Amino acid sequence: MSKKCKQCKKEFEPKDELDIFCSQDCKEEALAELDSGSDECLSCQ
Ligand SMILES: [Zn+2]
Repeated sequence: MSKKCKQCKKEFEPKDELDIFCSQDCKEEALAELDSGSDECLSCQ
């Protein structure tokens, strides 16, 4: 089952059902954006 990447909005096949990003790059980008706004971690949401 494919999912939409939370960062780039592209469809991807998650390896893990908790995966919300298509790649490590997207994950890092999203984390970098979060760092500037809030200190909540993605996996806690
Ligand atoms: Zn992505």
